[in-house]
Amino acid sequence: MSTTVAAHSDEAGGLPPRAKVAVAAGKVTGAVSRAAGRGSGAVIGGRVALRLDPELLRRLTAGRACVLVSATNGKTTTTRLIAEALRAKGAVASNALGANMPAGITAAMAEDRDAQYAVIEVDEKYLPQVAAQTRPKAIALLNLSRDQLDRAAETRMMAQRWRDGLAGTEATVVANADDPLVVWAAGLASRVVWVAAGQSWQEDAWSCPQCGGVLERPGPDWSCASCDFRRPTPAWHLEGDALRDPYGVRIELTALRLPGRANRANATTAAAVAAVFGVDPHTAVTRMQAVTAVAGRYDTVQYRGRTLLLLLAKNPAGWLETFDLVFGQSNPVLLSVNALGADGTDTSWLWDVDYTRLRGRPVLVIGQRRLDLAVRLQVAGVDFTVHDDVDAAVDAAPAGPIDVIANYTAFQQLRQKVGA
Ligand SMILES: [Zn+2]
Repeated sequence: MSTTVAAHSDEAGGLPPRAKVAVAAGKVTGAVSRAAGRGSGAVIGGRVALRLDPELLRRLTAGRACVLVSATNGKTTTTRLIAEALRAKGAVASNALGANMPAGITAAMAEDRDAQYAVIEVDEKYLPQVAAQTRPKAIALLNLSRDQLDRAAETRMMAQRWRDGLAGTEATVVANADDPLVVWAAGLASRVVWVAAGQSWQEDAWSCPQCGGVLERPGPDWSCASCDFRRPTPAWHLEGDALRDPYGVRIELTALRLPGRANRANATTAAAVAAVFGVDPHTAVTRMQAVTAVAGRYDTVQYRGRTLLLLLAKNPAGWLETFDLVFGQSNPVLLSVNALGADGTDTSWLWDVDYTRLRGRPVLVIGQRRLDLAVRLQVAGVDFTVHDDVDAAVDAAPAGPIDVIANYTAFQQLRQKVGA
């Protein structure tokens, strides 16, 4: 038996006393918080536990085979797909509810102590720290682009932080060869599996992270005009509706229940990660077909006699991917935008999104910042109506299923309201 397995039985079988107290205190706090109606309580519980034992996350993941997943977009969905694929090998613990900072991750690992595998979504800012504590076997890096709160400079700094944090990691890094910032971020890792997963939003990757020169993009390939930084050769490819594995085997992704190109890319990456653990890609893809909705995203619900498809779009790249999903249709679209804490209070990002793609469709606008969105749509030449709340908008919508696209807190509010 390997030393890591021995360490696992020591620690999981009997955590040190301080860690046991921390786990218990975290659970009590979590339960109290839940009882008080303040969400799942996981984050507050994890925070209390980590304060009592700062090493708790390391202890709770010691000896487990861990996967970390980070990105600007798609990390919750990809975490879920990888978890499903790895269940072919055994029990998997995961922070499935999307609490992706150290406290939420610690709570999820304390909740499920016995699973031999752990698939963990990690907020971009915490990736190096969580990698140092969990010593993962694989790390999936999907994409990096500006988020609500960020501009291009912060995105560049994030890539540098990943690059420094992952230098010399023992993990197999599974990274998107089509995102230059991700390629830069993975550049000092010793073992990288490249995936041609595509990049729909390219506005944050026009200059070379290595020298500042101009990146040239003739077709899917890219390279720096001034230095040797260029697209690495991918082992895995997303090609239309199928993935191609390193042996050239094509596997259809048409039976995936999650829609759109972005999700086929997530599935391709998930299959590449599962292969690190010896799960064959056919098995991985078949298991992923069981995933229908992820934390309400892509969920179809009946509400006030209408059919609603729920879509989350948190940032410009996310809006672009979502428009790809609903493009070419004529049914109504309901948009909701907030600017609360988790959304970023500045709505200037609305101007980075190409809303002209909604022209010709009936558009209904709600949300705390509906007037900001209305101004943006007017400039984009989109016909729209503004409503006080979701009920009024749904009742006013012309016939047909309604595509609902909302940013972060707006999505959470909608989900609660319509029961998804
Ligand atoms: Zn360069």
